[in-house]
Amino acid sequence: MNASEEVPLAQPVLGPEEAAAVLEVLRSGQLSLGPRIPAFEQAFAAFVGAPHASAVSSGTAGLHLGLRAVGVQDGDEVVTSPFSFVASANAVIFERARPVFADIDPRTLNLDPQAAAAAITEKTAALLPVHIFGYPADLPAFEQMGLPIVEDACEALGARHADGTRVGARGHPASFGFYANKQLTTGEGGMVLTGDPEVKARIDSERNQGRAPDMGWLDHDRLGFNYRMTDLQAAIGSVQVGRLPQMLADRATVAGWYREAMTPLATELGLGLPCEDAGGEVRGWFVWVVQVPQSIDRDETIRALRSHGVQSKPYLPAIHLMSFYRDRYGHREGEFPVCEDIAARSVALPFFPRMRQDQVERVAGALRTVLTAR
Ligand SMILES: *Cc1c(COP(=O)(O)O)cnc(C)c1O
Repeated sequence: MNASEEVPLAQPVLGPEEAAAVLEVLRSGQLSLGPRIPAFEQAFAAFVGAPHASAVSSGTAGLHLGLRAVGVQDGDEVVTSPFSFVASANAVIFERARPVFADIDPRTLNLDPQAAAAAITEKTAALLPVHIFGYPADLPAFEQMGLPIVEDACEALGARHADGTRVGARGHPASFGFYANKQLTTGEGGMVLTGDPEVKARIDSERNQGRAPDMGWLDHDRLGFNYRMTDLQAAIGSVQVGRLPQMLADRATVAGWYREAMTPLATELGLGLPCEDAGGEVRGWFVWVVQVPQSIDRDETIRALRSHGVQSKPYLPAIHLMSFYRDRYGHREGEFPVCEDIAARSVALPFFPRMRQDQVERVAGALRTVLTAR
């Protein structure tokens, strides 16, 4: 790669081991409902330190089944973060429940426990905190509220809570996603972790058309979906679990280079950086997102970065201000000021395990040029 080549936003780590694993499944003839599913589930659960895991077709499917498993239904409310990928709120609507947003903590950018507590009503059936950008949400505070919890852990593989437990290992249904930019990829795919064997049994049934494990193909004792993962994906996933310690360490190394290269832009120009780990919490690095100063046009910054050969994107937009959410629930600007300010100024920069230090420096140099060219 030469210096003028574009720095991509993300790039998965895949090698001949994944290719061999996929070929083996192809040759076995068993492409679905085969032995690779439990093997991947067990490897993933062991890595995170959770008792049970159910592989599903996506992180979104996992959120949906997690919400069903804790009993969310028609007419309920689920308190969640407006600063997330849209899937976390959409999954609530799948069950004809209403996502009720509350503002975020300006440091961690996660759902603010106090704001969440204030949003609880008699209709609240669950809380859905999101570990945004891999920084652990304040689960101990949410657990005090006495409501079922479903965790959106899709960005947080490898993160740890202050007590040392990994995100996803606290017993609540926690959904991970395996799209190609995530810490672990199967192309598409997801996994729900849980501490409750009954939750696993329900999810295993509902991902497979409501089929009970001991019943024949055409016996279905409840409503279900086709949220199955294929054995091809699970085979890739098992190889990826083996790569995880290295991939996560490489992400942390790249994040350190970014911190070094971007700190001067924070002090000199007021660029907002990802918060540092505090109080024993450890981020599982997923993206490197900065906030341009209020005086700078964010979308112009993204266009200018592109002209310097650096890919970037606005990440994340506020969910409540998306047209579907405005039209359906009447949301307007000003409801969640912290979220809206952060969402309007955020830019995701290139970030992936095999990013080189010279690429990080090139991104930082381009950003400095763009922010000071006026
Ligand atoms: C990626 C992601 C999801 C959805 O995962 P899919 O596997 O794409 O369905 C949900 N929530 C958050 C916060 C995500 O980043």
